[in-house]
Amino acid sequence: DLVSAAAPLPSVSKSNIEHRWSDITSYTTKKKVQSWFQLPNGNWELARIVKTAGSESVISLPDGKVLKVNSDSLIPANPDILDGVDDLMQLSYLNEPSVLFDLQYRYNRDMIYTKAGPVLVAINPFKKVPLYGNNYIEAYKNKSIESPHVYAIADTAIREMTQDEVNQSIIISGESGAGKTETAKIAMQYLAALGGGSGIEYEILKTNPILEAFGNAKTLRNDNSSRFGKLIEIHFSETGKISGAKIQTFLLEKVVLVTPFFIVLCHLSRVVQCAEGERSYHIFYQLCAGAPQKLNLKDVNEYKYLNQSNCYAISGVDDAEQFHIVKEALDIVHVSEEDQESVFAMLAAVLWLGNISFNMIDNENHVEAVADESLINVAQLIGCETVDLNLALSTRKMRVGHDNIIQKLTLSQAIDTRDALAKSIYACLFEWLVEQINKSLAVGKRRTGRSISILDIYGFESFGRNSFEQFCINYANERLQQHFNRHLFKLEQEEYIQDGIDWAKVDFDDNQDCLNLFEKKPLGLLSLLDEESTFPNGTDITFANKLKQHLNSNPCFRGEREKAFTVSHFAGEVTYDTTGFLEKNRDLLHLDSIQLLSLCLCHLPQIFASNMLNQSEKTVVGPLHKAGGADSQKLSVATNFKSQLFQLMQRLESTTPHFIRCIKPNNLQSPGSYEQGLVLQQLRCCGVLEVVRISRSGFPSRMSHQKFARRYGFLLLENVASQDPLSVSVAILHQFNILPEMYQVGYTKLFFRTGQIGILEDTRNHTL
Ligand code: ADP
Ligand code: MG
Repeated sequence: DLVSAAAPLPSVSKSNIEHRWSDITSYTTKKKVQSWFQLPNGNWELARIVKTAGSESVISLPDGKVLKVNSDSLIPANPDILDGVDDLMQLSYLNEPSVLFDLQYRYNRDMIYTKAGPVLVAINPFKKVPLYGNNYIEAYKNKSIESPHVYAIADTAIREMTQDEVNQSIIISGESGAGKTETAKIAMQYLAALGGGSGIEYEILKTNPILEAFGNAKTLRNDNSSRFGKLIEIHFSETGKISGAKIQTFLLEKVVLVTPFFIVLCHLSRVVQCAEGERSYHIFYQLCAGAPQKLNLKDVNEYKYLNQSNCYAISGVDDAEQFHIVKEALDIVHVSEEDQESVFAMLAAVLWLGNISFNMIDNENHVEAVADESLINVAQLIGCETVDLNLALSTRKMRVGHDNIIQKLTLSQAIDTRDALAKSIYACLFEWLVEQINKSLAVGKRRTGRSISILDIYGFESFGRNSFEQFCINYANERLQQHFNRHLFKLEQEEYIQDGIDWAKVDFDDNQDCLNLFEKKPLGLLSLLDEESTFPNGTDITFANKLKQHLNSNPCFRGEREKAFTVSHFAGEVTYDTTGFLEKNRDLLHLDSIQLLSLCLCHLPQIFASNMLNQSEKTVVGPLHKAGGADSQKLSVATNFKSQLFQLMQRLESTTPHFIRCIKPNNLQSPGSYEQGLVLQQLRCCGVLEVVRISRSGFPSRMSHQKFARRYGFLLLENVASQDPLSVSVAILHQFNILPEMYQVGYTKLFFRTGQIGILEDTRNHTL
């Protein structure tokens, strides 16, 4: 804290007090000596104020340049003793440049973790930093280290779980490449070390390579980008040992849902195509590199699904070696050798599907699949007749009235069907694997009710062009933000009430308006999207117009030109382009693939088919279906997403949350480079500045009466009748004319608005 960070107090003789008082008064009426000045490139520099006259100041920059600037453009900087504080709450001036500077100061010294009040900020080092491993784990366990760390967060979670007997959660957010997944693994490592013993912790750690192989891919932003969100719930026994775990995944770049007639399948497009310089899911490359010969796999560049992005390898990664790591991990989580063979066969089937081509069979553009090795291989791998596979890929059963008719497909329809089958096999495979892992990690019957959940999920996204995916992700983040605000609010409230502070004076902002914009029925973004998706003639334009017509009075909404609209999110405004919204919301795959899979003789396809059919039954009786009742009633992608999100929030609400915000310091994935603008944008997006802002609206600086009296008492000009710390403190406040609305006197502490301690501290430094 402030006091311990400063030098010991010198003794003061009364004789020089007069002289000092004139200094103090002239000093406090002056502006600060150091301020932040924003350069034309947007970066902040620490400027020394040479003089101030009226609204103008003369400043000198570190490079020696002297400038005359408008005083209002200067932002107060903190006294030097606050350089690199490990909690941003300790900054007297909680402004953006001060926060940026503090984080950078620490980052340059490999101190990648900093607290922002209750939140841990983690800046991706993009290199090995010497902060992990058994010695560190021991040190955090014994409390012999106090610097902010993921270990410290995990330790608090364990302690609070045991003491309060309340489930805990560690919520990790940040943009792609910011370090969420690594952070989650670091937290798991600590939990496994402290709760280990049963051996199950080893299995839990081994789920990481499996899920990463099947759910991660190289993208332009991250060589190991998770394409799904993950919640892992780790259970502990009464003796504090790990007793099991449960994993829930969401949004593997898609949402699969089966209704009586359709499988709703959204994106997962990475299986069938990926952008230049990106890769499909790691497992395909691992399989081809480390593949068992018996699958007769060719080189990666022979498969159409893999060879369109001109990217096969990741620097520093050996796919064959990874394949063996994954296989070993599968053994450890008890996926049998036979099931593993089936998994690899399904992966091979997906790859061969991409190579299936079609021939025109009539002059109406209808096609059938070419009977080459691809078709034969797929049929053999999934265990069906080539004729049936061909029919499933080149025709579609339609229901017209009470009759089923068979419609032949055109080339583009057949390609869509083929790709949809590949995506659904992959989706089913992923879900099946997660189910197997969960079976292996299953908590025994004796439930203890104590758990720590770790959530690793995409953060808020705002790109040049924002589509349906960003719409869903940002909506989820808006919900998580509300959870975060409420928790923070509660913590602050508790501390104020404990110390007898008038709570009503502290305002907090809420994002309920924005959530209402999404969730209100019937006139909210999600309802209107669903409504428009059910209209046969609905298009992205009619959807956009409907939004403008109904939502323009909402303060968080603004209609834009053509098909766009803007939402004021907590993290800033985002303009969404509705192109593709309706299609993605109702993206359909026909029943034929279930029928095909149920015909298959192989183990996994049959399981996939029956899972899909089971899900469809569940969906029919679901409450969302009661309203319409009709066969054609189906859950949209957005509505399904919302219900997944609500389930998640419900689970989180019953836990004590711990928040970690990951930050990516540069877009090059390279160590040592800290781009202020990029960091600032993320601090805003992931709510760190929001915490800071919320804190500013309260009384963020706290100091006990004793510390305050000791630190500033010598500045008093007149003797105080009583020497008790409270009286001395009050006398100091009066002498310095600190306005009543700027502080609160609690039972044990003084609470200050932002900046007040800075004034006192400057005066103190100047006097010493
Ligand atoms: P996200 O899940 O947020 O997309 P990742 O956790 O996959 O990001 O991190 C991206 C990359 O950054 C990792 O592959 C790793 O190279 C590096 N990285 C992240 N956190 C750390 C860390 N604490 N120490 C070292 N490298 C890290
Ligand atoms: Mg990740």
